[in-house]
This record gives sequence, structure tokens and C-alpha cells, in this order.
Amino acid sequence: MAPSTTQPSIAIIGSGIGGLGLAIGLLKQNVPVTIYEGAAKFDSVGAGIGLGPNALKAMALMDETFAKLYDEIKVGNLDPKRKNEQFEALGAEEGLGEATGWYGGHIGDPKFTRSSAHRKSLLGVMKSLIPEGTVKFNKRVTHISQPREGKGVYLEFHDGEIIKVDTVVGCDGIKGMSRRAVLGSRYPEEVASKYAKMYVYRGIAPIEEAKAIIGSVAENAKWFMAPRRGWAMYPISDGREANIVAFIQDINPWVGEQVARECPREEMLAEFTKFDHRLQKLAELYLKPMKWPLFHHPDTPTYFNDRICLLGDSAHASTPSQAAGAGQGLEDALLLSRILGLVKSPDELGAAFQVYDSIRRPRAQGVVRESYEVAIEYFLEHPVYGMDMQQITDAANKRLPLIWWHNLEADVVRATDCFKLLTSTTVDSKTVESTKPISHSVLTKTDSTASSIEKAAAGNDVLTPLAEEIPVSTNG
Ligand SMILES: Cc1cc2nc3c(=O)[nH]c(=O)nc-3n(C[C@H](O)[C@H](O)[C@H](O)COP(=O)(O)OP(=O)(O)OC[C@H]3O[C@@H](n4cnc5c(N)ncnc54)[C@H](O)[C@@H]3O)c2cc1C
Repeated sequence: MAPSTTQPSIAIIGSGIGGLGLAIGLLKQNVPVTIYEGAAKFDSVGAGIGLGPNALKAMALMDETFAKLYDEIKVGNLDPKRKNEQFEALGAEEGLGEATGWYGGHIGDPKFTRSSAHRKSLLGVMKSLIPEGTVKFNKRVTHISQPREGKGVYLEFHDGEIIKVDTVVGCDGIKGMSRRAVLGSRYPEEVASKYAKMYVYRGIAPIEEAKAIIGSVAENAKWFMAPRRGWAMYPISDGREANIVAFIQDINPWVGEQVARECPREEMLAEFTKFDHRLQKLAELYLKPMKWPLFHHPDTPTYFNDRICLLGDSAHASTPSQAAGAGQGLEDALLLSRILGLVKSPDELGAAFQVYDSIRRPRAQGVVRESYEVAIEYFLEHPVYGMDMQQITDAANKRLPLIWWHNLEADVVRATDCFKLLTSTTVDSKTVESTKPISHSVLTKTDSTASSIEKAAAGNDVLTPLAEEIPVSTNG
């Protein structure tokens, strides 16, 4: 019997960077999609976002215009001599390290150009690439189900509407309900995100005012380090403002809801009493007395369950110490949009998600785990590096390029080959021969969640296992 060729109907839950990124990639390939967003309008939390060369490459591979428009809003370090620097590592104590003979560590790469943007500007770029009507606002999903009989996914909204689609991509963020729909029946312990035992205070300072307090230091990205404390600061908004994220390691569990919590201003300021007096002044003037807890998903055993798939923070929310979380979401969006662009009928969705999971999960989970380790390092708590800023700088300079220079084109080629192999009804010997290294990894179903960004970066030749056969489940 000839296979059917009906393009599947695709629903995305959530219009954050992940959901919009996927929609941009799909629309570029003429794959129709609808985004269901619970909020009444586009919104973004926080101010600045740093994006590495891998994120920019993912944008360009999805849609050249996306990359060009981002180019117009991005900001680097204001000092041209520091344009290749991701940030400078300094001490946070009085004198910013100089008292102990530390004059700053350069973390960057000659091929790297620093880029960050205001989240609102990034959102503006992304929504300009989505035709009106693609995003349905005020559509909070309250229930997701996959009946055992009859292929497809039912979405129920808070207004009572129920729709049936062929597939759902959950881009609904770290607390999104799609995670339960994918993991709930098989890995219930992995549904909820885990407290990374740290929280942040955030703030924005007009750059001229920040310079009046701390000098030219405010013009370029810095990470001020102290035991169990940190302060990241970098220019945004065309260089008119500095974004500040101040990190505190927490010894206690986070009790109550996973949301930012107001605290007395004095309590916040007391956290920085061992900092340089200029940083204390900036805290006093610009930090909001609001503790943002950092949760993450260090373990996600699979990114899909039959016709429901995870993308972005719902799959791999990360601590922000490498400024890489949204970039991983954009990499997901590139790969999944390319694979879904090949799908000719709903029957092929299983193969599409298997390929996506096998390529994306090892890399993205590697970034989550490493970002947590890096946070501990920047808290000067690393068991080997301790307070040795040079070792911390050297380690960052080895690690970050593995995120930045990952070969995304090779991922796309591998995904295409794997998908074709899995969906070809008659595999001729020529196809098998031409995809030999890939078919080996596709067909080897080893049980492993092990991943390494190192291996992935070294030619993207990680032997990536496929997920086990997935039972259909019904979850809310
Ligand atoms: C302090 C901090 C700093 C960071 N800095 C960086 C950085 O510099 N660089 C970087 O790359 N990353 C950074 N990140 C990570 C980055 O912010 C996230 O990875 C990214 O924003 C996640 O995007 P997302 O689209 O997956 O999820 P979200 O942005 O959370 O979007 C989810 C969307 O889904 C919607 N939604 C949720 N549930 C439902 C529902 N039931 N029905 C309908 N809609 C729903 C929400 O309203 C929302 O619009 C940082 C994170 C933090 C906390």
C-alpha cells in the first residue's frame, strides 16, 4: 500500500524564544503551524540575553532574515578591543581583584564576537517574522491527551475549547505542562524542575550612570566573582543600558512556589557587603529586591512521547552561567523544523522525533549539566580550581568554544539522512552505504543518556542512541 502524503497538523504550545524560533523555521519551509499562547500578548521576562555564535548560526540556517534582523539589534562590548571577549573575569571584593594581584581574565576567542540584546528587541524581531494570526493568544492549554486508539493529540484550553491535531510541540517553558505529558507515565520523578540551589537579583542601569560609579568597567561584559556570590553585567539597548544579574548560592531548599519572591531591600544589600563599594552602590541603586530562584532540568530521559515533543526550556532548562539556554532552544528549533519539513504524513512523526531526540538531547543535556558545574566554579567552589581565577579562566576558554562552534550544518545533514533511512520502505544498498556511520548510530539502541559537548563539538560524531520504543500514554 502506498504511504499517505498528508502533511500533519502541528500545534506549538508557547510563544517564547523556543516556540517562535520553531515557527520561524517551519514557516520558512512552508510548513503550516499554529502557536497557542496562554498570555494575552507577547511578553518577555528579564532584560538582557546573550547569544553565542551557535545561536546566530541556527538563526541564519532557519531564515537568513532572522539573522540579519538580529544583527541590527545586537550589542557587543563597547570597547572595540574587547569585541572578542565573552566577558572579563574579575574579583568582586574591594579593588576588584587587584589587591590579590589579579587584573582580569579574558574569556573569549579570536573568532568570537560578543553579542547580546534586550529581550524585548529580540521578541520584536521574532514576531515580525511570524504572520499575524499564527499565534492564538489567551489560549492556555489545561489538558493534553493522546488516546491509545486513534492517532493524534487533543488539547483542551481554559476557555473550554478542545482541538485535535496530529502533533504537539511543547515550547511552554520550564514549568510547562507538556513535560508531564511526555515524561509523566514513564519518568514521573523527572517532570518537576530541580532547584539549582541558587537565586539571582536582576537590574538595569543606565550605562552613563553606571560609568559614573564604576568607570569604563561598565562598558564591557564582566563577571565579578566571590565565594558563593557572583555579579554578571553587560551592555544592552544599543549600549545605553547595562544589564545586571547578581548570583547568590543558596544553602537552603526553595520553599513554596517556583516564582520570584520580593524580599526586604536591606536583606538584599546585606548579601553584597563583601563586594567592592562601587558594586554595592550599583546594587543599592539598580538591583530590584526580588529573589529569582534558578531551577533546571539536569535529566530528561527523552524529549518525546509518541506525538508530543519537547523543545526549549520544557526539555532542558538550564542555569544561565554560560548564557546558553535560549541558544540551545534555537538549535532545537533549527533541527526540528528541518526534520518536520521532511515529514510527508503523520505516520512519519515517530521517526522525526526519534531523530530529533537522538541528536539534540545529548548536546542540550550536556549544556545543562555543564552550566551547573560552571556556576559552582564561578562561585569559587570548584574542588580543584577553588579561588584560582587563572584556572577558572583557562577552563572557560576551553569549554565555551565547544558550545559556540558546534557544527550545526552537520547535525542537519545527519538528521536528514537518519530520517530518510528510518522512513524509507525499501532501503537500497547504496543508501545504506552512503549513510553508514549514521545508520550504525541509528540502529544501535544502547541505553545511555551520557553526552559530552566535547565529543559533539569534535565533528559531531557522538554515537547517539535512540530512545526506547515509546508507549502511548494519556496525560494531563
Ligand atoms: C536569569 C536568567 C538569565 C538568562 N540569560 C540567558 C542568556 O544570556 N542567554 C541564553 O541563551 N539564555 C539565557 N537564559 C535562558 C533563557 O532565558 C531561556 O532558555 C529561554 O528564554 C527559554 O525560552 P522558551 O521559549 O523555551 O520558554 P519560555 O520563555 O518560558 O516561554 C514559554 C511560553 O509558553 C507559554 N506557556 C506556558 N504554559 C502554557 C500553557 N499551558 N498554554 C499556553 N501557553 C503556555 C508561556 O506563557 C510562555 O510564553 C537565562 C535564564 C535566566 C533565568
